[in-house]
Amino acid sequence: MHTRRNFLQQVAAATIAIPLSSLSSLAAVRARDGKVLRVALMGLGGYASRVAEAMQSCTKAKLTGIVSGTPSKIKDWQNKYGIPEKNCYSYDTFDQIKNNPDIDVVYVTTPNALHHNNVIRAAAAGKHVICEKPMALNAKEGREMIAACRKAGVQLLVGYRMHFEPKTLEVVRMRNSGEFGKILFFQGQCGFRIGDPTQWRLNKALAGGGSLMDIGIYALNGARYMVGAEPVWVTAQETKTDPVKFKEGVDETIQFQLGFPDGTVASCLSTYNMNNLDRFFLNGEKGFAELQPSTGYGPIRGRTHKGELTQPHKTHQTVQMDEMAGILLEGRQPVVPVNGEEALKDLQIIDAIYQAVKTGRRVDLHLG
Ligand code: NAD
Repeated sequence: MHTRRNFLQQVAAATIAIPLSSLSSLAAVRARDGKVLRVALMGLGGYASRVAEAMQSCTKAKLTGIVSGTPSKIKDWQNKYGIPEKNCYSYDTFDQIKNNPDIDVVYVTTPNALHHNNVIRAAAAGKHVICEKPMALNAKEGREMIAACRKAGVQLLVGYRMHFEPKTLEVVRMRNSGEFGKILFFQGQCGFRIGDPTQWRLNKALAGGGSLMDIGIYALNGARYMVGAEPVWVTAQETKTDPVKFKEGVDETIQFQLGFPDGTVASCLSTYNMNNLDRFFLNGEKGFAELQPSTGYGPIRGRTHKGELTQPHKTHQTVQMDEMAGILLEGRQPVVPVNGEEALKDLQIIDAIYQAVKTGRRVDLHLG
């Protein structure tokens, strides 16, 4: 069996005069053996660029296609990554991807409000879909996306890169093996001071909300995988210091609390107006875990009552894409789920947090 590196060495040795397009088709031939996930990225912005770079180091996933509304970006990406013309799409031509056997999955990295429609289109084209977080603007959209993927017989995964992060998984392993004892409390603090007031993240129509949709989701998703249970109620409070920058429906800061069936409580902070907030703390009857930074691009740092966590850092998106290849091509099961149903639970909690902010009342959760 070839490793990716010796395959590339063989290609390099044999193809000094071979143009890029032929190299791509050689890669496609190798991909057809079913061991490499062939990925088309949709929405070539900041995060797509990060994923594309990280995928260069993947052993099981490869960038083979792109979808963009900007022709100059398509050219740049073709040159940079050797993507053949036939694997490049605009939003107008995108549905034709169904006739392209060299693409297994579409990875949607457009602004939040466009996830719903783009995922449903990709599913209708018969492709598996990876969608960035938040999967959608609300639980109703999320359910429609799950139903569309089910109907099309394709899988829907969500870009929860922390679910594959080694130090995070060590804490999950320790919790599962009882090393913290009964879990009593989780604290998640996620935020940063957001810049340019004209960006889509501060536009309710494109973002679906404010800090909670973008960064606070890490605290609420983290509460679930750190505690290892599903919350049954939520309370929430919003504070806004700059109503010009953070318009109606765009939350600047939200604090929320989650209650779990056995009495465990999570206390979380989501903000677009404070830096140095990237911290998880898990407390149990026998011990604790602290991650800081906890969800940034890393390296993640952490310690428990037993000492420092020493698992080596790997680029999150490289690990994520290789692991997702294992899920989509080999049916592997991740330790912490990354499917649409997992993301729907986050959307249900987000809906409830906004409702709790609005009503000032505790909202009961019935996830699933
Ligand atoms: P970005 O603004 O850098 O990129 C968005 C891309 O979508 C741009 O290329 C833009 O041209 C394109 N686009 C297509 N249709 C558009 C429209 N109608 N309006 C505006 N842009 C349009 O944003 P980003 O930071 O790459 O975020 C994209 C998605 O990825 C978001 O859902 C975000 O939450 C998610 N994200 C996830 C992570 C993570 O760590 N998992 C990190 C950053 C962003």
